[in-house]
Amino acid sequence: MPLKEIECLKCGTILKKRVGEAINLSENPKAVNDIIEGKINFSYCPKCKTKIEHKSHVLLTYLDPPRWIWLVSRKYQNPKYCEEFFTTIVPPGSVDFIEQDMVFVDFGTPCESLAYVIENKLPQTSKDWLELGKIHTGSEAVDCYKNALKINSALTEAKSLLNEEMDKLKTYQL
Ligand SMILES: [Zn+2]
Repeated sequence: MPLKEIECLKCGTILKKRVGEAINLSENPKAVNDIIEGKINFSYCPKCKTKIEHKSHVLLTYLDPPRWIWLVSRKYQNPKYCEEFFTTIVPPGSVDFIEQDMVFVDFGTPCESLAYVIENKLPQTSKDWLELGKIHTGSEAVDCYKNALKINSALTEAKSLLNEEMDKLKTYQL
């Protein structure tokens, strides 16, 4: 793994960390727990103790069938970032032959809804659909909130998040 210099944005301390490009979950199935428990891709600054993300995104891969899951820092959670990422950053053409998901997390914080994405399963309860929506963006988030409301139409948090996400999509498409 390449050694990367990472700067603490608060105090300017430079950390040197070995930072991998991707985690192959077919070869390292045990990594799934660390990922869900929020134990990857961050350190605390030795000087000021601020949390520092090593990279803005981490790629999780499966070999057979090929599947990529992009874990992206929550500060980029908007439909525009997602579309630009898949049209400019990922290897050209890869979206045509590899199933790819993008989810947004706070590195360093546990995220149970990631299990649905990693295990490629659908939630059964309105609460779990709501939580799954919160780590997505754009039409994928909208679908999750709609599924939550199908099960429980009185879930006010899903209603307000659905409206927010629709507004974001409208602004972005202007
Ligand atoms: Zn610092």
